[in-house]
Amino acid sequence: MEFIDSAIEEYARAHSEGESALLQELNRETYAKVLIPRMLSGHLQGRVLSMISKLIQPKNILEIGTYTGYSALCLAEGLLPDGELHTIDINEELESMILKYFNKSAHSKQLKPHIGNALEIIPTLNKTWDLVFIDADKENYANYFDIVIDSLRPGGIIIADNVLWSGKVLKETEAKDEETRALKVFNEKVFADERVESVLLPIRDGLMVLRKK
Ligand code: SAH
Ligand code: CA
Repeated sequence: MEFIDSAIEEYARAHSEGESALLQELNRETYAKVLIPRMLSGHLQGRVLSMISKLIQPKNILEIGTYTGYSALCLAEGLLPDGELHTIDINEELESMILKYFNKSAHSKQLKPHIGNALEIIPTLNKTWDLVFIDADKENYANYFDIVIDSLRPGGIIIADNVLWSGKVLKETEAKDEETRALKVFNEKVFADERVESVLLPIRDGLMVLRKK
């Protein structure tokens, strides 16, 4: 489901910074070869993630849900020269494509891909995060928030993707859909959590932006 009129969306894209040649190539190869390519952030959301990262100038970024690496490459654009981006994906079949594109990136030395379950890997990383992007299994969004909030610096930002879930979070009765239920719980939980300020941006499938006080 598109929330924004497609002509408006196209105008917004046309007046936003273009996709780099590397991101275009990754976008095309993902659509040609990988399952469920619409999971890739894409041009406009990618520029939003890049812009937010450049505003923060993070030293440490954590991404939960690498997929083919598109959003990681966008977020890495804002890293400080001595910064690092750690990104985790449970699907080992994605690894060769992730490495192929990370190696071609100007930020290759700063990109730290991990293959495995994010719930197990995050506690081993021992970093203070400036920016966290939550974009993996929707059932665990609330758990991801809980395990990163203490290692997020004050003023640090968490962005959670797909929080509108094609609009399904608006429906009162969605008992059989675990992902919708989990996203509704996540949105209510972080909205009520006094440690963070929240703003839900209705960009693409919904970006929840949280700032730690
Ligand atoms: N951030 C990417 C899209 C991520 S799609 C982009 O915007 O381009 C979601 C990814 O989360 C999938 O690749 C899936 O394999 C991964 N995932 C699902 N459950 C996970 C888990 N428990 N730990 C780590 N990754 C997980
Ligand atoms: Ca997503």
